[in-house]
Amino acid sequence: MSATKKLTFENCAHLLKKQGLISAEQCTEIAARGKAQETRLYALHQSGGSRRVQSGTADIIFPAEVIAAFNFELPGTSGKILTEDMVTEAVSSAVGLPYLKIDPLKLDLDVVTSYIPRPFALKNLIVAVAESGGIITVAVADPFNDAIINELASARQLEIRRVLSSKSDILKILREFYGFRASVMAAEAESSSTVDLGNLEQFFKMKGQQEIEGNDKHVVSAVDFLLHYAFEQHASDIHIEPKREKGLIRFRIDGVMHNIHVIPKLLHPPIVSRIKLLSRMDLAEKRRPQDGRIKTHFNNKDIELRVSTVPVAFGEKVVIRIFDPDILLQDLDSMGFYAREMSLYNSFIRRPNGIILVTGPTGSGKTTTLYSTLRSLSSPEVNIITVEDPIEMVMEEFNQIGVQQNIGVGFDSILRNILRQDPDIIMIGEIRDKETAENAVQAALTGHLVLSTLHTNDSASAIVRLLDLGVQPFLISATVIGIIAQRLVRKICPHCKQVRELTGDELDYLQLGKKSHVVWEGQGCKECRGTGYKGRTGIFEVLDMNERVKSLVTGHVELADLVSAAQEGGLISLRQVAIRKMLEGATTYEEVISMTG
Ligand SMILES: [Zn+2]
Repeated sequence: MSATKKLTFENCAHLLKKQGLISAEQCTEIAARGKAQETRLYALHQSGGSRRVQSGTADIIFPAEVIAAFNFELPGTSGKILTEDMVTEAVSSAVGLPYLKIDPLKLDLDVVTSYIPRPFALKNLIVAVAESGGIITVAVADPFNDAIINELASARQLEIRRVLSSKSDILKILREFYGFRASVMAAEAESSSTVDLGNLEQFFKMKGQQEIEGNDKHVVSAVDFLLHYAFEQHASDIHIEPKREKGLIRFRIDGVMHNIHVIPKLLHPPIVSRIKLLSRMDLAEKRRPQDGRIKTHFNNKDIELRVSTVPVAFGEKVVIRIFDPDILLQDLDSMGFYAREMSLYNSFIRRPNGIILVTGPTGSGKTTTLYSTLRSLSSPEVNIITVEDPIEMVMEEFNQIGVQQNIGVGFDSILRNILRQDPDIIMIGEIRDKETAENAVQAALTGHLVLSTLHTNDSASAIVRLLDLGVQPFLISATVIGIIAQRLVRKICPHCKQVRELTGDELDYLQLGKKSHVVWEGQGCKECRGTGYKGRTGIFEVLDMNERVKSLVTGHVELADLVSAAQEGGLISLRQVAIRKMLEGATTYEEVISMTG
């Protein structure tokens, strides 16, 4: 870098060109367009260490964010865009600072919040990210802020090591992550000034339950920060758990739980109360489980949250399921079906009447399959009615009825009346008992297409399950069109994918014979926060109720006979489909094993 220690668009552009991230034309463009910005560009830290003039953060502009806003396509790629992170990484090597992509899930809250006061951090775009052996690692957006860092080090008696991160990453931490913590600490400080921390009951009596639950502004903003953060991380669930000494907040992301925040025990009840208030639950009821929902917005999308509370040993535990329409509603084509299974399934759902069953354990994506199917079938000409317990996501296109067991409105009673509503397609959340199964059969026999789920491990077991529930064999043969079994497996991160050969034991375990096979696995990188996985895909087993299978459906059918008849008809098992996904490099050996047990 130049001796003036200033990062101009021009030297940024040359840097990027040298590293092959932009073309010569783009380099010229950046330099030219950058000239216009140059006057607004941060002017600081001349070699005398003069103090920065600006205050706040809005007026500090870094070339990296401006260049990223140009949306340049990377040379030799189709559609990959030059990002702020890439520019920042390029700059880091030139200025001799290590680059750090900040992973919020790996940050230690105490480190982030205890060494640098938030206003100072915001003003100077710095954040403490780690502490080890007395040395604090501070991520900076400005590589030339030596004066600021020296000031901080001497004022606070710290030994500081700098790493370079993008301005967006640093702001995200300072605004959201820090925001949650700041709110929690403020709420704690406010309440603990009046009361002994250990004596919660007395505290509530003194302060009045409603006041602390509904109105505490710090609790309100802590919950806002928390939800926002969960949406941003694409979490599917938020768990808020009371422990003996503290509260724990965890997110489930791509099926795996991550610890996010540890909060003071005192703050657990008001946070739970705030969420109960938002989801219109009974605040005073703390001993019985409750269900509720919250509708909110994020990035111009409606997001539906389903909230449930249960009393556990140390208080009330809250689980918030996040129904992101992008995840819950997908094109059937993008869900992971192979061509043969897709066309079979499509043939099922185009039939005018009959029953289609989707099976799999909780969290296997059955709801996504059903909703996505219904949406693909919805049109002004068809009347779709769903009966759910509870309604997972409110969709305007369907007429959704929620089961309300507490007032005697069960699956059974709704289904008995539903046919008067003249439906074409009926979705039943789950078949759990004989009455529901018989209602489903009746609906199918009277000319309706019925979709439902069953809790079985594979497709053929669904038939056995219906028989066990007491449905007549001939009625099953007459109504069931097809059954799918499904699972979700994690996809390998494309950024750190590496090839390896299956070992002899692994080949034996999967019964792949002696021939060697190549598979892939993620090494773990910043894109996948070290997990080696990114996103999930569906594994589908599709059973066609052909004549041969139907002929076997009698009062004393053996599951094995059903399976072999289905396989003769072309059924490919979940395990085989998963192995195919593994050999194609979509998922790993470990995922196949954990999925198929
Ligand atoms: Zn990766």
